[in-house]
Amino acid sequence: MVSLRKTVFGVVVAAIGLSALTSAQAAEEVNVYSLRQSYLIEPMFKRFTEETGIRVNTLFSQNGLVERIKHEGRNTPADLLLTVDIGRIQDAVDADIAQPIESAVLEANIPAQFRDENKLWVGMTTRARVLYTSFDRVAPDAITTYESLADPKWEGRICVRSAMHVYNIALIASMIAHHGEEYTKTWLTAVKDNLARKPQGGDTDQIEAVSQGVCDVAIGNSYYYGKMLDDPNKAPAAKQVRIVFPNQGDRGTHVNISGVALMKHAPNKANAIKLIEFLSGDEAQHMYADINFEYPVKPGVAWSDRVRSWGRFTHDELALNVVAANRVAAIRLIDEVGFNE
Ligand code: FE
Repeated sequence: MVSLRKTVFGVVVAAIGLSALTSAQAAEEVNVYSLRQSYLIEPMFKRFTEETGIRVNTLFSQNGLVERIKHEGRNTPADLLLTVDIGRIQDAVDADIAQPIESAVLEANIPAQFRDENKLWVGMTTRARVLYTSFDRVAPDAITTYESLADPKWEGRICVRSAMHVYNIALIASMIAHHGEEYTKTWLTAVKDNLARKPQGGDTDQIEAVSQGVCDVAIGNSYYYGKMLDDPNKAPAAKQVRIVFPNQGDRGTHVNISGVALMKHAPNKANAIKLIEFLSGDEAQHMYADINFEYPVKPGVAWSDRVRSWGRFTHDELALNVVAANRVAAIRLIDEVGFNE
C-alpha cells in the first residue's frame, strides 16, 4: 500500500511539473485535477496567479480522475476537481471525495439553482441543451419545445447521441421533474419512433447530420455550435443549421453546468476556496464562458459576442440538485423504452 501511494504520488508530482510538494510551497499553490482541457482554464488561472501570487498546478485527464483521487486518499495533492455535467459532479459526490465549500462570496455570486444544497459543488459556467434545425427544410417556428420532439410530424427526422450520455440523462431527468415518469416514458418512446437513425456519435455529429440531410432536427449542447463556427472546416456545415432555444413560451431551456468540487483531503484548502471565488467573479466569469462559448453562471456578467449573436433566452430554473435526483429514474426509462436499440 505504501509503495502504491508513493508511486501514485510520484506520478502526480511529475504530471503537475513539481520537483517536490513541500509544505512551504504548498502554502502558495493550489492543485487542480481537471476534466476540462487546459486551454479552457489556463487563462483564468494565469490571471488568478497574477492577482494573488498563488500558483495553480493542473492535471488534465478525460477520465479516471474521481477513481484516482479516491485511491490517493489522504495523500492526494488534489484540492479541486473541475468537471462537466451534473451527472459527473454527482459521481464525485457519491464517491465521497468532496467536502462542503463555505463561502459567502459564492453564495452571493452563484444562483442557488447552480449550487449544491449541501455545498459539495458549485457551477462555474452553464450550457444550454438546444435544438438544431435545418435552415432549408424546417421553418423557424416549426419546433419550439422539447415536448414537440414527440410529434409524429418529425417521424424519421430527428438525430441525437446516445440517450445514456450524461447530457441526455440530465435533459430526460428534467422532463421527469416537470412532467412525471409516465409522461416522460410516453414522450421518450415517441421521440425514439421519430429518430432518423440509431443514436450515435457526439453532439457535433448530430449538427453535421442535419447539414448533410440525414435528419432535420438534432439535440445538442449550445457550445458545439460555437466551436463549429470557429473551425473553418466545420463552419460551412454549422451555417446550414439554426440554433433553437426550446420552451421560451413556458419554463425555459434546459441548462447544465461545468462545475467544481473541493476535495475532502485538499492540502491547500484556503487557496482552493480563493480560486473558486476568483472564478465566480465578473472578470473570470466572462473569460471562462467566452473561451468555450458557454454562459456565465453569475447573473449580469456580459456574454461573449458569439453567444450574444444567438440571442438572449430564458433558461429553466429547475435546481440541478433536482435534476441529479431524477437521474436514476431517467436511466431506467431510457432502458425500458430501448431508446438506443
Ligand atoms: Fe461537451
